[in-house]
Amino acid sequence: PLVLGIESSCDETGVGIVRGTELLTNTVSSSMDEHVRFGGVIPEIASRAHLEAFVPTLQAALDDAGVTLADLDAIAVTAGPGLSGALMVGVSAAKALAVATGTPLYAINHLVAHVGVGILGGTFPDGLPSNLGALLVSGGHTEILRVGDLAHDVELLGSTIDDAAGEAYDKTARILGLGYPGGPAIDRLARDGDPTAIRFPRGLSQPKYMGTAEAPGPHRYDWSFSGLKTAVARSVEQYETAGLELPVADIAASFQEAVVDIITSKAVLACREHGITNLLLGGGVAANRRLRELTAERCAAAGITLTVPAPALCTDNGAMVAALGAQIVMRGAQPSGIAFGTDPSLPVTTIALPRS
Ligand code: ATP
Ligand code: MG
Ligand code: FE
Repeated sequence: PLVLGIESSCDETGVGIVRGTELLTNTVSSSMDEHVRFGGVIPEIASRAHLEAFVPTLQAALDDAGVTLADLDAIAVTAGPGLSGALMVGVSAAKALAVATGTPLYAINHLVAHVGVGILGGTFPDGLPSNLGALLVSGGHTEILRVGDLAHDVELLGSTIDDAAGEAYDKTARILGLGYPGGPAIDRLARDGDPTAIRFPRGLSQPKYMGTAEAPGPHRYDWSFSGLKTAVARSVEQYETAGLELPVADIAASFQEAVVDIITSKAVLACREHGITNLLLGGGVAANRRLRELTAERCAAAGITLTVPAPALCTDNGAMVAALGAQIVMRGAQPSGIAFGTDPSLPVTTIALPRS
């Protein structure tokens, strides 16, 4: 099916179009430049930017894909989670398009779309494997999932108990004076640093949290990143108190190594203990070079087949929404109608909203 996907949960206005698992266009407009001076996304500014960017982004996407609205078999839109006002712009636009063109509309989960985008490009020519898992590492979430069926069965195996990985990157970048958003800045800087310079803590890795395979502890597959951020702050303080120049690249590389090490080790452990042999990696932090590298290394060692989307498909975009929408359409699921609302805290287990 030819599916158009609309994304507006944060600062990216995204319109993507797919035909089945073939990507036709991924057109994105970001208001990040307007948020930089505030050190974080300002919801009101993001909503207004979506309003202004939507029509031009839609037109550019249709032109790029060489299709018209009349050609579409379905429209998919992010209904949550995300910023309420921002979500509302994409959802309102999607409803208007659906009504005007008589096209079925599917309200879908942004988080599942982050990992579902991995199927684009025909990664699974024989259909999705049964022993599938997904590692979602984004600005607001860090989760390891068992994916029974991308359209209607996702189980949460573990998640962060405090900050998300992306949040940890952004907060640490602020401590290091690297500006916002912090992920790409730390990723770049870490290339010139020594990842073994400082041993930062790996949260929830102690035996009392891990337990054993037979008797799992309370947080065997969970993460915690708030202690890591505090450890970086303490380390910076120590250098400053001693009057020493801050080894910013070494701190960035050491911080990144701690994040990536604990994410990948726990994810691979969860996969092994749940018979997961195929893993999808997704979310904005999945654009990170070191995370991609170490996940690939550890999956290979564990005999897990890893799928990693191109970096432009990891950060927020409309193609991921269209990709998941197409999967849902292909399984014959009913559309969501046009009476649904947005859900800023939609849980990952709700893949699409039923007709309300
Ligand atoms: P969510 O998807 O959980 O609702 P979000 O949509 O705001 O949150 P994403 O767009 O998926 O988040 O990801 C944004 C996050 O990814 C930011 O925290 C950003 O710092 C981080 N990020 C982007 N590129 C990189 C990179 N190369 N290395 C590390 N982090 C990165
Ligand atoms: Mg963004
Ligand atoms: Fe996201």
